[in-house]
Amino acid sequence: MVAQGPHGLGIRGATIDWPGMPTSLAIIGGGPAGNAAATFAARLGAEVTMIERDVVGGAAHLWDCIPSKAMIATGGAMSFLARSAGMGLGEVKPLVDLDNLRHRLATIEARLQTNQTELLESQGVRMLEGTGRIAGLHQVIADTAEGEIEIEADYIMLSTGSRPRIPDWAAIDGDRILTTRDAYPPNEMPEHLVVIGSGVTGVEFVHMFKSFGSEVTLIVSRQQVLPNKDPEVAAALEENFLARGVHLYKGARATAIEREGDLVHVRCTDGRIATGSHALLAIGSVPNSESLGLDNIDIETEHGYVNIDHHCRSSIPHIYAAGDLSGKLPLSSVATMQGRKIAEHVMGMHDLPHRHLDYDKAASAIFTEPEIADVGLAEADAFAEGRKIRVTKVPFSVSAKALINDDPRGFVKLISDPATGVILGGSVVGRHAAELIAVVALAVTARLTVGHIVDSLFIHPTLSEVIVESAE
Ligand SMILES: Cc1cc2nc3c(=O)[nH]c(=O)nc-3n(C[C@H](O)[C@H](O)[C@H](O)COP(=O)(O)OP(=O)(O)OC[C@H]3O[C@@H](n4cnc5c(N)ncnc54)[C@H](O)[C@@H]3O)c2cc1C
Repeated sequence: MVAQGPHGLGIRGATIDWPGMPTSLAIIGGGPAGNAAATFAARLGAEVTMIERDVVGGAAHLWDCIPSKAMIATGGAMSFLARSAGMGLGEVKPLVDLDNLRHRLATIEARLQTNQTELLESQGVRMLEGTGRIAGLHQVIADTAEGEIEIEADYIMLSTGSRPRIPDWAAIDGDRILTTRDAYPPNEMPEHLVVIGSGVTGVEFVHMFKSFGSEVTLIVSRQQVLPNKDPEVAAALEENFLARGVHLYKGARATAIEREGDLVHVRCTDGRIATGSHALLAIGSVPNSESLGLDNIDIETEHGYVNIDHHCRSSIPHIYAAGDLSGKLPLSSVATMQGRKIAEHVMGMHDLPHRHLDYDKAASAIFTEPEIADVGLAEADAFAEGRKIRVTKVPFSVSAKALINDDPRGFVKLISDPATGVILGGSVVGRHAAELIAVVALAVTARLTVGHIVDSLFIHPTLSEVIVESAE
């Protein structure tokens, strides 16, 4: 069944009587999850109040996705210019300008915040600047500069995100001992940065500061950088790090950071000490849930994360949680999709399994050099499950466009069902991987086959032709 919503949204499986129902939704936290839910629910006719204590757009805009990728893009421009000879140019030696970089980050953030605020306003979302907490099953309090405001709502959504995890052995000073939030950019470019943590965030900061010319040491607690990734993909990154002179301390866990004048010493469990001018901690995050008033209601949590079902409902069905607070995949794209699903669910737009969010089909990227992106079934997981798969891999070195770009590094790997040809997953390693994976992500979600890809007329010369070749 297809129900046509009031704003022309054709949403399958809807069971709603249009026009709109008198539904109210109170949202605490205006990051990607809160914003998406607010926008869509208001568009579908709900009365929405959103409480945000910091900036609309959330940590994603202020601290995480946006400033990190903007800094990486600046570093990428520097590396590209430094390789100018390969493009037939004379020698270029770019230097980072910290003031200009700060201005660039502030301009991007301000523009995104304006866009987001205008969008919410245009949908009639009531926005409150303050700190929100739950006071009862249908009551939320916003502590604002003008005093407490109480909001009664049919539904409540919690989307307060997370913040960097800081263990008690790390005395963050924001000067030389940093979390990711102190690095946009730091007061001075680190001469030698010791990065603790080799997950996605850690390796992105290694790449970022290496591009700016810092010496970098990476503390890797296991034997593989990116321990949760396909070993072949992780190896490609490790090779690049080693070629660029990154020092890898493998099998080492940091246990203390000491400051001695302008030096920092990171002590590791195996006795090694990594000394640098700065240390940066990237060892995960903790949920922003401790002052949310969760004790006022009997809601299920685990280590501070709110447990949710496939509709993002908590153990109290009219209270939803999304984004990092839900303890699912900590990605902005996932938070946005959860917010959107919550808006639909609150408005009674769907209750059918085909509308469930499938976290296994979320594409993710690592903005390093080479860039890494993947989606769906990983080769190693298929082998572990004893599942029959067809794996095809084509290097970018066969691509005319890669040669034009003077960057033939990396490959496309596709995983498909040998019986049906249905694409189950894939990885792209190389320039523009995060853009290219979109085709594979669409194929995985829509259950397209390798035949569909082969029959598509892609543009020549482009890197996307390598996806076609790997489907052949
Ligand atoms: C360094 C780094 C880089 C990242 N890069 C990417 C990336 O490139 N792509 C990607 O998809 N993901 C990335 N992520 C992950 C992504 O940032 C998060 O998954 C995403 O921000 C989660 O969105 P959210 O809506 O849950 O919360 P957030 O973006 O954390 O927003 C939560 C909001 O709630 C507000 N808040 C908290 N408590 C209260 C309260 N009591 N009252 C009112 N407001 C409150 C906060 O001020 C904040 O604005 C990155 C993470 C890090 C750490």
